[in-house]
Amino acid sequence: MTAGWTAGPTEKCGVVGVALADRDAARPLYYALYALQHRGQESAGIVTHDGFQQYDHVGMGLVGDAFTEADLDGLNGRVGIGHVRYPTAGSVDSSCAQPFSVSFKSGSLGLSHNGNLVNAEEVREDLEGLGHAFTSDGDTEVIAHDLARNLLDGDLIRAVRRTMGRIHGSYALTVMHDDTVVGLRDPAGNRPLCLGELDGGYVLASESAAIDVLDGDLIRDVRPGELVVLEGDGSGYETYQLVERENTAHCFFEHVYFARPDSVIDDELVYEVRRELGRELWAESGIETDVVMPVPDSGRAFASGYAEAASEARDTSEDTSESGGDVEFAEGLMKNRYVGRTFIMPTQDARERAVKLKLNPIRSTVEGRSVTLVDDSIVRGTTSNQLVSLLYEAGATAVHMRIGAPPIVAPCYMGIDMATREELIASDRTTEEIREVIGADSLAYLSIDAVARALDTARADLCLGCVTGEYPFDIDGEATDRDVSRPAIGGRPASADD
Ligand code: SF4
Repeated sequence: MTAGWTAGPTEKCGVVGVALADRDAARPLYYALYALQHRGQESAGIVTHDGFQQYDHVGMGLVGDAFTEADLDGLNGRVGIGHVRYPTAGSVDSSCAQPFSVSFKSGSLGLSHNGNLVNAEEVREDLEGLGHAFTSDGDTEVIAHDLARNLLDGDLIRAVRRTMGRIHGSYALTVMHDDTVVGLRDPAGNRPLCLGELDGGYVLASESAAIDVLDGDLIRDVRPGELVVLEGDGSGYETYQLVERENTAHCFFEHVYFARPDSVIDDELVYEVRRELGRELWAESGIETDVVMPVPDSGRAFASGYAEAASEARDTSEDTSESGGDVEFAEGLMKNRYVGRTFIMPTQDARERAVKLKLNPIRSTVEGRSVTLVDDSIVRGTTSNQLVSLLYEAGATAVHMRIGAPPIVAPCYMGIDMATREELIASDRTTEEIREVIGADSLAYLSIDAVARALDTARADLCLGCVTGEYPFDIDGEATDRDVSRPAIGGRPASADD
């Protein structure tokens, strides 16, 4: 699945927050948002605070289009938060663009949210009953109102703890309350958030690539259920473990697909995890072919690990016809980087044409040869079918498809715009039936156990909802794979001592 231009899943958001000692926050935030652009392309925004008032600018489109020099000059203050967003279809408008910023009796608030609450409606109805008026249908505003209400009779830490006790779902948040920037991660750690040190300051970001671009050092991931408060003068940070759970529910798809390969998430370099997934793929379903080839760019790290493991297996093979020599790992599909993204081309015909516009086979690598084509996932199957056809048209004698993740059988409710069950090719088909649809000579996916091994994480600490149909949250009409329940909503908040 090639990022951004197929009908593949789309990450909905990237978040960042900084506190600096002696320079304005706007430009570091702007650069960090550039580094997180792959997590959202529909809007970008920054909110800053100079100790007296809050400044904000939110624009539609890519980061480079959303801000002018003058916009950045107008964002005063050494603390701030930023956001890139990809909304679900149908709500592409500025009312849901983030950071969400607003002034309450309890002070000014800015919120950047990555994730999705599964009980937002319940909390919203409760707050509406208490007189809160909402301006958008987004769940970020629900968190903002709940936090503002709790800030009326508690300090920031208590207020966040209470809000965490009411909201249920996935969230990695950077929040600015007046001139204090905090970051928090939901108790299951479903979406990523990390902490880094800058020259004269600190940063919170969805991915460590945003820290790298600021010449900073990654300190560590924010822990599930943890609140990190950045000192306003950039001198340090404090942390509070507000909620603790026995198991986490990290989104395994971050490692497989969403995150940049150069990011470190949950202590693992994403590129190396993908290579390891490729090695596992060879171990489970390797097949000897003339050449191993990635789907650019999504399959590259997987294919490299797969080919490496295949070469090692040849070296140790007792079968003399197979032993010795590296397995050829080659690019066979050339990508045209200047073709627009297909998710802005809504029809099936447009999507199919976009594949041909985007990728062209390199005939000399393919002609007269058997090919193993490696990708990270199959969503609808349209792209895979097109790619297999392209390779046959270029003269491949056989095309074997290997996928570095299990079949996607169910939608995501945690902030990933995946597809509906009806659209997912694997929701009601066996692997053999999918192979027939995409037209490959063979097809194999990676097992869930192999994913857990490659991530070096216990299966019980991963979210696997989209590949099992069982979720780590209490979602209406869906099964859960653990002992979870939504918080009871209603009535007054707990006492200020909680
Ligand atoms: S359902 Fe899939 S994409 Fe969604 S959070 Fe879980 S693992 Fe990630």
